[in-house]
Amino acid sequence: MVRFRAGAGRPSLDFVRTLRHRDTPHIVEDLSDAAALAAWVTQFGPCRAAPADAAPATRVGAARELREAVFDLVSAGVGGYPPMSGARERVNEAAARPVPAPYLAGDGGLEWAAADPVAATLSLVARDALDLVATGAVARVRVCAGEGCAALFYDGSRPGTRRWCSMDTCGNRAKKQTLRAKAGA
Ligand SMILES: [Zn+2]
Repeated sequence: MVRFRAGAGRPSLDFVRTLRHRDTPHIVEDLSDAAALAAWVTQFGPCRAAPADAAPATRVGAARELREAVFDLVSAGVGGYPPMSGARERVNEAAARPVPAPYLAGDGGLEWAAADPVAATLSLVARDALDLVATGAVARVRVCAGEGCAALFYDGSRPGTRRWCSMDTCGNRAKKQTLRAKAGA
């Protein structure tokens, strides 16, 4: 089941955008409860998670705190200033947890398993964030130019001129607005 926006170009940035329309009056919390957290892990991680894997509510709170720490660490990297106190430690802590392990299934396919699928997938997210800020790839992180979107995305285009988190949503909307403005002129 696909219910969350993907396509930010990096798992850590897809995770950050579970708080949509950040810093705007239309802010939306996608990680509303354990079922939502489990659904995110299932959509973005290599192994499935059930709502029971993401309970209790304190785990959802911790996942949101990790998300804000990732956001802060990446924003600091983009802006070239030091992250807020505790953000680096929180992401480091999540990255230290075991990640999903691969195994060969009976049908010959590669599957992934984890004793704690939520923590294991969030470990992948945290490791991606560490890689992003430590390798200089953070210089390719942009804020979407879409009105009220505020999503971060990784600009993998060769000239480095990508403006929107997604052509399907924000890019398309901007293009339509330009056309409408031209038609009205
Ligand atoms: Zn956007």
